[in-house]
Amino acid sequence: MALLVQKYGGTSVGSVERIRAVARRVADTRADGHDVVVVVSAMGHSTDELMAQALAISPEPPQRELDMLLATGEQVSIALLAMALQAEGVPAVSMTGPQVGIVTESTHGRARILEVRTERLQRRLQEGQVVVVAGFQGTSAGSGGTPEITTLGRGGSDTSAVALAAALGAEACEIYTDVPGVLTTDPRKVPDAQLMEQVSCDEMLELASLGAAVLHPRAVEIARNYAVPLVVRSSWTAGAGTRLFSRSGRRVGREGLELGKPVDGAELLEHQAVLALAHVPDHPGMAARLFEALSSEGLSVDLIVQATHEGNSNDIAFTLDAADLPRAEAVCRALLGDAGELRAEAGLAKLSIAGAGILGRPGVAARLFDSLGRVGISLRMIATSEVRVSCLIQGDQGDKALRTAAQTFELEEHQLHHNPAPGGVGEPEVRGVALDNGQAQLTVTNVPDRPGSAAQLCRVLADAGLSLDTIVQSERRRQTAAGPCRDIAFTLPRADRERARAALQPLLQHWGEAVLSEGPAIARVSAVGAGMPATAGTAARMFRALADGGVNIEMIATSEIRISCVVAEADGIPALRAVHGAFGLGGQQRHRAEGTEAPQG
Ligand code: ADP
Ligand code: ASP
Ligand code: MG
Repeated sequence: MALLVQKYGGTSVGSVERIRAVARRVADTRADGHDVVVVVSAMGHSTDELMAQALAISPEPPQRELDMLLATGEQVSIALLAMALQAEGVPAVSMTGPQVGIVTESTHGRARILEVRTERLQRRLQEGQVVVVAGFQGTSAGSGGTPEITTLGRGGSDTSAVALAAALGAEACEIYTDVPGVLTTDPRKVPDAQLMEQVSCDEMLELASLGAAVLHPRAVEIARNYAVPLVVRSSWTAGAGTRLFSRSGRRVGREGLELGKPVDGAELLEHQAVLALAHVPDHPGMAARLFEALSSEGLSVDLIVQATHEGNSNDIAFTLDAADLPRAEAVCRALLGDAGELRAEAGLAKLSIAGAGILGRPGVAARLFDSLGRVGISLRMIATSEVRVSCLIQGDQGDKALRTAAQTFELEEHQLHHNPAPGGVGEPEVRGVALDNGQAQLTVTNVPDRPGSAAQLCRVLADAGLSLDTIVQSERRRQTAAGPCRDIAFTLPRADRERARAALQPLLQHWGEAVLSEGPAIARVSAVGAGMPATAGTAARMFRALADGGVNIEMIATSEIRISCVVAEADGIPALRAVHGAFGLGGQQRHRAEGTEAPQG
C-alpha cells in the first residue's frame, strides 16, 4: 500500500466539527487503500493565543519556556483527531514530535530538523494504524544536546509534514489548507487571485520568502532537495490543488535532513556592463519610462537596483550584456536630457551561487562575500534571494571568483557553469505576486568603498542570526574624511531591526563616518516567475503598472526570477493589485480563505 502524508492546518482543525470532517477525509483516503500519516497544526488561532498569554507575562519570554508552551497547541489537536478517527472506526494513534523521533537542533523557536527516527512510527503503520503527528515540534534529544522540546518556527507544521514524507519515502505529501491551493497571490488581499495548477519549487521558495504564507519556505526546501512530491489542496473541496515540481534530483544521504548544503551550483556570466544613473528625478513613472524605452529598443536588462534618496532624486543602476551598452547608453541619455548623471562601465562579470534556503541561512551570502573579499575581489552590485545570490565584479576577476565560490561551497566541476543560456524558456514571466508588510528599510551611509565592506556588514548581521534582504549598494561614491564611501540600503524583518542596530554598532564605529538610519514604514511588492530571464521587458511592465496606479517606488531590487519594489506602506495593497492585474493573473473565479469574511475590494 502506498503511503501518504497529509497535513491539516489550523483552520482545517479549528473546531470539533472540522476535526470530524478531517477524520472522515482521512478515513476515505485509507479506504482507497493508502497508509496514512497525518500531521496537524494547533486548532484555529490557538498558537497566537498562547503567544499572547506569554507576552502578557513577559515582553521577552524565555525561548525554552515558550517552546514548552507553544508545543501544547498541537498536542490538543492530535489527541482529538485520533479520537475522531477511532470514532469513525479507523485505528489511530497520536504522537508528539519527540515520540515520533523528530530530532532537531537545540535552537529553541527555529530549530532545524536533523533526522526523523521512523522506527516507532513504521511499527504503528505496520499494525494498520493511522499515525497522527503533532506538527511544528521536535526534540533535541539525540542531537548531542539535552533532551528538550523544540519548535521549528511559526508555520512550521508544513516542514514537519514534508520532512516526515522525505524520511518515510512517502508517495506524496499533501498540504490541506483553507484555500484551494497556491494562488497567484493572497486571496485575502486580491479577490480575483487564481489557482495555479503547478509551480516550481524555486518559484514557490521565492514567493514563500517574499510573503506568500501558504507554505513554510523550509517545507519547500525539503521537497526540492529530497524530491518529495508536494501538493497543496483545500480541506473543504475535492479539487486537485497545486502541484509543486522541481528539476533538481534526489539527494543521497538523509543525515542532517535540513542541514544539507544550501548551495548546489555557481555560475559566471561574462561580458556584462553596468549603467548607473544618479540624481534621477524621483516621481512616479520614472523607472517605467526608462525601462520601457530600453525594452522598446529590444534591450534586455538583467539586475536592477534603485535606492538612495538624496533630496528628491534616485540612483538607478542596471546590468546588461556589454554588447548592448552603447545603445542602452544612448537611450538613457535621450531620456535623461540634462537631468541626472550617467556612468557606463563595461568589462564586468556576474557571479551567482544558486541553491535553496539562502535567505533562511544568513551565513550563506556572508560566506560568499567574505571569501571574495579575502581574495581582493570588490563587489559592484549585489542581488540576494531565497534561491540565488549574485554579484557584479571586475571581468578579469571572474575565473578567480568562480573558483573561490566553488571552494567555499565545496562544489564539484559539474556544478559550475560558464556563460549559461538564460533559463526559463517557455515558462511564465510572472507566475505569482506577493506582498510583505513586515519589513523595515535601513540604510548605512558612508560605507568605505573597499573590498570586503559589504561582506563585513552581512557577516555581523549573519553572526547575529539576521538575514538581510533586498540589499542595494549605491553606485554613487562620496568623498569623506574616511576616504571614498558608498551607501548600502537593505530591508529586513521589522521585528529584527533592534537586533540589527545593536549588531551593527561596533562596525559603524570602526568605519568612522558610517551612519545607520531607518526609512519610513514600507511594504514590499514582488513578482516571481521562472520565465523572467527569458522574457524582455518584465521589469518595465511591473514599473508601468505601479506608475499607472500612482505608486512611487522607493527601492528596487531584482534577482533572476524575481523583482521586488519597496513602496510606502499605505500603497502596499493597491500596488499588489496593480501588478497582479498587469500580468493578467486575475480571473473570473473568486477564491477566499474558509472561515474568513469575503475580501474587500
Ligand atoms: P494553515 O493554517 O492551513 O497552515 P496558513 O494561514 O498558514 O494556513 O496559509 C494559508 C493562507 O495563506 C491563506 O488563507 C491565504 O490567506 C494565505 N496566502 C498568502 N499568499 C497566498 C497564495 N499565494 N496562495 C494561497 N494562499 C496564500
Ligand atoms: N501552530 C503553529 C503556528 O501557528 C505551526 C503551524 O500552524 O504550522 O505557527
Ligand atoms: Mg501554515
